[in-house]
Amino acid sequence: SDYRLSKVDKAETTCGFCAVGCRFEMWGKDGNALGVQPVDDPDDAPANNFSTCVKGKFGHEFANSKKRLTKPLIRNEDGEFEAASWDEALDHVASELRGIQDEHGVDAVSCLASSKGSNEEAYLVQKFARQVLGTKNIDNCARLCHSSTVAALQQTLGYGAMTNRINEDIGEADAYLISGSNTTESHPVLATRIKQNVRDGADLVVFDPRKIGIAEHADQYTRTRPGYDVAWLNGLIRYLIEHDLHDETFIERNTKGFEEVKRKVQAFTPEKVEELAGVPPAELQSAAETLADAENVVFGWAMGMTQSSHGTENLLAMADLALTLGQVGKPGAGLSPFRGQNNVQGGGGDMGTLPGSLPGYQDPADDEVGEKFAEVWGERPPAEPGLKVPEMLSEAHEGNLRGMYIVGENPALSEPDIQHAGEALDSLDFLVVQDIFMTETAEHADVVLPAATSPEKHGTFTNTERRVQRVRASAEPPGKARQDWVITQELAARLGYDWGYDHPREVMDEISDLTPIYGGVSYERLESGDEHGLQWPCWDEDHPGTPYLYDYEEGAFNFDDGLARFVPADGGHPGELPDEEYPLTLTSGRVLYHWHTGQITRRVEGLMSHVGESFVEINPTTAAELGVADDEYVKVESRRGDIVVKAVVTDRVGDGTLFIPMHFAAGAVNKLTQETFDPQAGIPEYKVSSVRVEPLGPD
Ligand code: SF4
Repeated sequence: SDYRLSKVDKAETTCGFCAVGCRFEMWGKDGNALGVQPVDDPDDAPANNFSTCVKGKFGHEFANSKKRLTKPLIRNEDGEFEAASWDEALDHVASELRGIQDEHGVDAVSCLASSKGSNEEAYLVQKFARQVLGTKNIDNCARLCHSSTVAALQQTLGYGAMTNRINEDIGEADAYLISGSNTTESHPVLATRIKQNVRDGADLVVFDPRKIGIAEHADQYTRTRPGYDVAWLNGLIRYLIEHDLHDETFIERNTKGFEEVKRKVQAFTPEKVEELAGVPPAELQSAAETLADAENVVFGWAMGMTQSSHGTENLLAMADLALTLGQVGKPGAGLSPFRGQNNVQGGGGDMGTLPGSLPGYQDPADDEVGEKFAEVWGERPPAEPGLKVPEMLSEAHEGNLRGMYIVGENPALSEPDIQHAGEALDSLDFLVVQDIFMTETAEHADVVLPAATSPEKHGTFTNTERRVQRVRASAEPPGKARQDWVITQELAARLGYDWGYDHPREVMDEISDLTPIYGGVSYERLESGDEHGLQWPCWDEDHPGTPYLYDYEEGAFNFDDGLARFVPADGGHPGELPDEEYPLTLTSGRVLYHWHTGQITRRVEGLMSHVGESFVEINPTTAAELGVADDEYVKVESRRGDIVVKAVVTDRVGDGTLFIPMHFAAGAVNKLTQETFDPQAGIPEYKVSSVRVEPLGPD
């Protein structure tokens, strides 16, 4: 049955943009999202209290856009989309997917789940893949953002997640090391916490190739060369050990592998660090001393660290540094990946929308786990790991992957080298896309299914601090658009599996049954008014949740022996280096007013009025050499393709480095980016590509 709201005017809910997980009241009228206001009691908004950023406050207008998809579409024989009934569309999808599987095997089909939808919806997409289709190929876009973080933190600490809280720990640290995070623009409310604390005396050290907004507030900003983060991180560890500034008690009591790391970092002398990463020895030294002097340190990072051909190595080095200083398992300290999308922690990780892990990061190869799922689902999930997103596209190219079900993701714009990604999508026999707009990816589809968005949803999101929070609807999906969980359930029914859920609450009951770290999560608790969200691990209904992971005294790292692991890291070089032909280094990222591939924010006038088109930042020295003036259009070209964008001449970037935001289809940066991947996590190296610039002159 479809899930429709009775008239609801106001709902306390969770922001659908970034993973800070701000809470507010959202108003709706006649099915449309109207506006937001702070919650009455700041305790009900643990991450933000009363604050919200411009996206949270005004960004919901996209939900009312006239461009929303309102009916299912099927591509006809002439290649045009035609409106269809739900029955026609769903029957067609079911028979095409099954047809491909009958002919080419179960693994000829893959699913891509969304990090923007709810936990319940993400859980159902991976259940659909594993139970209904029986394919092992399930992944999501977290592959493109923090998969390297997860890989590194799982190896060193046990859980691939932020160790601490936003308010009480990040907001209260004595010092910060922030790298590869444009915090003020990507996680504005979190940045506000940090800035307040820095004003009150905390030390802020920022290492980044760009002098981003947060660097303006730093005690030390050090410009790094893109692609060489392992060098300066290992250099810091070397300095700390050499000057006896490491936490020997903690290391001996709670870790193993220190000697290997100690040996590894020997090569990263200050001179070597300067040669590789461009960090002057005096700056390396002052950063090391600031961090060593502080009682509690938070280490924060985002895509600048993760989106690298050695992203996992970067984060192993970051974790080694935190362990060297004993800065985990206590208030005001910890390793803090700033996760991107609203529900990337939950829907992109915890819910098992990953090729090698079931909900709660359980191992599909473990027979006991497999049996547990088989008892509830009636089918054992495939034991071996499936394809990661980039592998799905290359297998599609090869003709081995024939069908895809993509929910709320936009790989046609978000993948590196999008020409290649587009060809891969076109070479599929059948593509079904479930989304709220006609995205660049939906343009390639055979069937498009109109879905709902966060102001229209009931469910839960899990924010970057592992806090599961309720999401409530105050608006209705337009036209015939449906809730995502309803669509997936309808598809399952057509393929012979009657799930029979009447409400997302029932899905959460199944999640908590099967997922130990969510064992005590229930709508009853989330709605009781006392809990203010639950941070996992939350083992059972009496467990209060876990504010910060691990314990400085006891260790309690997520391994049988409770010890953290030092893992030596090495970086090597990026996949592409500047040369005579392409002498400049391109990096990419976000701006405050936009969101990911811009599908949502490019439809909001108020946001477009701030930044309405793509651009390229060029350092004044580079610009002078190239003969480029501010505000002139230039052609930026790589080995993959070229784009025309407006030049912004600024010393935010260093000489020889360019920056282009990732939010635009016209002037899409991913026409230029390269397909080198981190071997462990499969994350693409978006942050380093070699390019050249051709001035196009005034007008
Ligand atoms: Fe939403 Fe993030 Fe802004 Fe908070 S900081 S209002 S969660 S976009």
